[in-house]
Amino acid sequence: MQDTSFRMEIFNNYENKIFWTISNFCNFRCPYCYIDKTQKPEYITEHHTPEHIANCFNKTGKTWLIMLAGGEPFIMPKFLPLMQELTKNHHIQISTNLCSDDVFKFPEYVTPEKVMVISASLHVPEREKVDPKFEKFIEKCLFLQDKGFRVVVNYVTWPPLLTRIEKDFKYLKSKGIKNMTAFTFLGEYDGKPYPESYTEDEIKLISKLSMYKREEDILRCSASYKGIKCEAGHRYFTTELDGTVYKCRSIPTAMGNILDGSFKPDTKNRKCTADTCIDTYMAEFILDHNKRGVFGFLKKKQVKI
Ligand code: SF4
Repeated sequence: MQDTSFRMEIFNNYENKIFWTISNFCNFRCPYCYIDKTQKPEYITEHHTPEHIANCFNKTGKTWLIMLAGGEPFIMPKFLPLMQELTKNHHIQISTNLCSDDVFKFPEYVTPEKVMVISASLHVPEREKVDPKFEKFIEKCLFLQDKGFRVVVNYVTWPPLLTRIEKDFKYLKSKGIKNMTAFTFLGEYDGKPYPESYTEDEIKLISKLSMYKREEDILRCSASYKGIKCEAGHRYFTTELDGTVYKCRSIPTAMGNILDGSFKPDTKNRKCTADTCIDTYMAEFILDHNKRGVFGFLKKKQVKI
């Protein structure tokens, strides 16, 4: 049974959510990656101390769920001290390929109660080059699981992998991995655009393997919530490496910089104006109509953490 309770935690516990790209460098060279590999590696901790960064979040007067992405966060200098500082007052989610052995030191810096989820990205083409049977990947997932962290393995549905994805899911499960999800590939393969080019059978397969309600919206290119009130810009934001905060990834309205004190959130939820929502995985949690709907009753039972 997959543990999807963190989705309810987002509803109940995390009023303020921020997605933050904290580095632009990754040790993997996945064929489907959108990061520009010609860029000079840059990390937020080259520019600011962990204490300063945490203090900037503290000064907003809000408690945040900070969703960290990269590049690969664990290879960033001072990543663990940064996590330690941030989790003194806030909660985190991390997306990582679990390559670094610093993963084994993570519990010395952060307690599981402060981590909503560790998204362990299984990038099959690159992982197989260094870890053919995924043994090191599995060892780290099980280590974190045993320490009480909620780990979800993200499997990117790059088209050449679709013939083996179910076998890989079964294999990981047989090794003790509790939570896995299929993650829609966005990009071009063999001259065809995706997700537009997935067949109906492939859409059904990926939807079946995904734990996210909105996966099918992404697969069917129907992730459009125009006209619906959304928390983006009010209680949900996306942030660049330099601390510049934007309303969301689809509507890049700048809202100041969280690291220089100029960040100013909107005062209320407003109607979405975008034709397509790139933050689809969050839409489940930030659109007003969801909260009044099936999950509305849960909002009444606010849980303090
Ligand atoms: S594009 Fe998505 S995140 Fe942005 S306002 Fe619209 S629904 Fe919200």
